[in-house]
Order: sequence, then C-alpha cells, then structure tokens
Amino acid sequence: MQEQAHRVGAAWSASGLRLIDGKYPLAVERYVLRQVARLVPGVTTVTPHARYYALHALVATEAEERALGNTETQELLRRCEVVLAAASHLHGEDHGLYGLPQAHGEGRLRGLFTASAVEFAAAVRPAEGGYTRSKWGFLPPYQTSERELGILTAVRGSAGRPAPGPRLDRSPVREGLEPVLGLARGEELRMADVEPYVEQLCVCRGGAQPDGRWLAELLCRASEDGSDEVASRRRETVRLLTRVLDGHPSERPVEEAVGEFLALDPRMSEGGELAGYVCAADWRGLALRNYSVTAWRRLWSWLVGQAAEGVHQAEWADRFAQAMPPGTVGEFWDALPTPGIGATPNSGTARFGSTGSEIRPEEEFAVLAQGARWAEELTGDTARAYNGPPNEHGQELHPRWFAAYLTDRRSLPLAECARELAVVLLRRSARVALAKSRPAPDGRLRLPTKLQQRDSFLFTRGPEGTSRVILRLNRLAYVLAGCGVLTVDAQSWRVTELGRELCA
Ligand SMILES: [Zn+2]
Repeated sequence: MQEQAHRVGAAWSASGLRLIDGKYPLAVERYVLRQVARLVPGVTTVTPHARYYALHALVATEAEERALGNTETQELLRRCEVVLAAASHLHGEDHGLYGLPQAHGEGRLRGLFTASAVEFAAAVRPAEGGYTRSKWGFLPPYQTSERELGILTAVRGSAGRPAPGPRLDRSPVREGLEPVLGLARGEELRMADVEPYVEQLCVCRGGAQPDGRWLAELLCRASEDGSDEVASRRRETVRLLTRVLDGHPSERPVEEAVGEFLALDPRMSEGGELAGYVCAADWRGLALRNYSVTAWRRLWSWLVGQAAEGVHQAEWADRFAQAMPPGTVGEFWDALPTPGIGATPNSGTARFGSTGSEIRPEEEFAVLAQGARWAEELTGDTARAYNGPPNEHGQELHPRWFAAYLTDRRSLPLAECARELAVVLLRRSARVALAKSRPAPDGRLRLPTKLQQRDSFLFTRGPEGTSRVILRLNRLAYVLAGCGVLTVDAQSWRVTELGRELCA
C-alpha cells in the first residue's frame, strides 16, 4: 500500500524536477541592484533611446487632443514607432552616436525597409513579421521611467493608455517630432517621404532638436523647492557623471571607465575634489561593493565550470584548493597590494573589474579579500553606502561576513579555506535555488539551477553567467547623449556646452 502511494504520488502533479536557468545563483546582487535603481531614477537597462521619451509624449498629447480610445492610440503609437525605425534605418552609416543601437524594431523591419514603401498594416501588426509583438509597441519598457519623470501618466481604467504628465511640455515635443505624425498616416510609408526628415527624426539626432533640449532640462533639473527627492538624486548623478567625463574623456565604455573612476580614483575619496558632490560617497561605496558581487559571480561560474563533465564533490572542492597559492589565509590577506584608494587598480593579484572569459580563482579570491578589508576600513558615508543596511551585515557572503570568515581562518592554509568555502557556496546555491523554485503547470517543481547534485556527484547543465551587475552608466550616458547633454564619437565621450550649462 505504502509502496503504491510512493509510486503514484500526489494525484494532481507529475513527479520530478524541471531544471531551468536562473539568473542570480548566489543571490548576492540585490543590494547593488536596489542602489542603482535609487541613484539612476528614470533610466533603466531597457531604455537606451532618449528619443522614445519624447515620441511617447507626442503620442500621448495627440491621443488626448484627438480624444482617441485605446485601440486607436495603440495604432498611432505603433505607426509612429515604425516611422522612427524607418528614419533610423535610412540614417544608416551616418547614424551618429558611437555604439548607439538602431531604433527599436529596425532589425525586424530591415527586410521591408529595402522596398520603396512599407505597408503599415504589415509593419505594425503585433504578430510575427511585425516590428514587435507588444500591442503597446515599445511603451512598456519606457513607461515606468516616463511616469517617474512626469512625462506621462496612465489614464485610469484604460489598460495602460498614456496621457500627458505634469512635466510634459507640448510645444518642443511637437516642434522636434511633428513630421512623424504626417508620415504615420495613410496605408503605406514611402521611404522617399521619410528621407528628407532623417536628420531630424533619427533616434541619434534628438540632441539637436527642441524635444531633446526639453528632455535634457527635465533630466538635469532639480525640483524648484528641493521637495522632489527623486529629481534631486537624478540631477546629482548626472552632475557627477558629466564632471567625471569632462575631466577625463575616455574611449572605453562609460560603465567601465566611469565605474572604475568612481570606485578607485583618489578624487572620489574623503577630502578629494569630487567628494563634495552629494551622491559621491553613495556612488563610490556602490562601485566598490560591485567588485565583490562580481567576484562571487565569477568564482561561482568557475566552480560550476569545474563540474562540466561530472565530478565528485570532494574532487570539485579540491580543484578550488589546488588553484590557490601556498601559504595561510593571513599571509595572503596581508600581502594584498591594497589597490586601496589611489593605487593602480589592476596591479598585483587583485585585478579589479576583470571581466575576461578566463577566470582565475586566486584573483577573484583576492578581490573578495580586499572587499572584506574595505568593509572594515571605509568610513563615513562611503562605509554606509558600501555595507548597506545594518541588518544585512552578518549575512553570508556580505563583505563583513567574509571579513569575519577570513579572520577566523587566518592561520589556516589558503587551500583548506578554499575547500571549505566551496562547500559554503554549494549549500548556498542549493538554498537559493530552492527558495526560487516554483511549480510548473504540470505540477513538477521548476528549479532554477545550472549545477545539479546527485548523491555526492555534481553535474552542470551549461556555463554560469559571469557578468557584472551593471550600474546603468552606459544607458544613462546614451540617454544623455540622445538629448544633447553628452556627445560621443569613436574617440571619446565629452560633455557639450548645453551639458555644462545644465549641470553647473
Ligand atoms: Zn541615427
């Protein structure tokens, strides 16, 4: 009887696990993600184009003035976005911002755009062959930011239909993008009709248009009485970014170059020339903390890779141990080159911000050990921003936790410490996967994990991610370039006259 019950299981569910891919296998990213959202309000990882803020503003204005319903507004929005994609397509090699992608949906419509005219019915349909499957086009990824900036509000009970928000200024938006409305009418979009407006309408040209100027002021403006804390934070971040880029034009991606500057440049430290910026300590603490987060991700990715062909857990932990140099934890920790603040970040063992595909566990361990040191050595606002809320300090893999972990093991051989740490990480990843598991429609449990454990053996289902949590600095730079605050070419990022004026 018992055996039968075991075999049948619960009547409503299939038995077994369904392994799926998860995103944050060690769950060490949350604090950084939260801080980034706080410090860069109004720009997210899915909003690269400043021009869409203005285009959606134009559509909301038009829909209100013509009293359009949901379906008509959707149709108008989708047609306008197709026009923008066509302009961006025609801009071709002149598409003027280094690295800025083409307009949304341009890739999907590229085939249609080679003809002399495009039928709107085909291009806008929210199905296969259309420029996107979403009924609201590319409004969804932008609308949280657009509402936060006061550009749009939602019409109550309208399933997301946008309406003009309190900070939408209709005339510059119309002036900059008006031709879109004319081109969006009729049955087809003739490419020859778009041609004369390419320079005005392309997603990279907003900085030279009145709608760009309006958006630039909105992004850089503090609230008049200081009561809008979100606007103040945004302004302070933009001011700091423009200041850093103004003094140090860089050919490298902003995320990389500015991220490193914010973390390690002596001008960012207490008493440094940029310490007076209201959000300087927040950014420094955050950028420093991200090194630890990235190092945990990379170390875990390396460990998962070690089980690619199936390995006994003991041997798996041994491989980590063997990858470490001789000596004790204390000797290793004390000998770190203190990239500390002001020294060359990428000298010695701790290669900060290393993002290459080859992962060396010793380097990642060194970054973590340095992170543990920072947890104890940083002071003031930077320490607060680095360590986060006090109730998180004791949590596993927090820099303070790791500092205590290493302190307890100072006299232990480094290899032994690595062997122990491998088990800590293995157990943590299993707990994280279980906590994130959800039932699949057939009743089986969906377990997000790349690493599979059977008895004492480990197997992988594929490589684990190594990417950094992004600080949204590239996205912010592109949005600022798209509205004329910054400019960029293959040589470097620079601040424009307008940018200097608005961020003074
Ligand atoms: Zn362009």
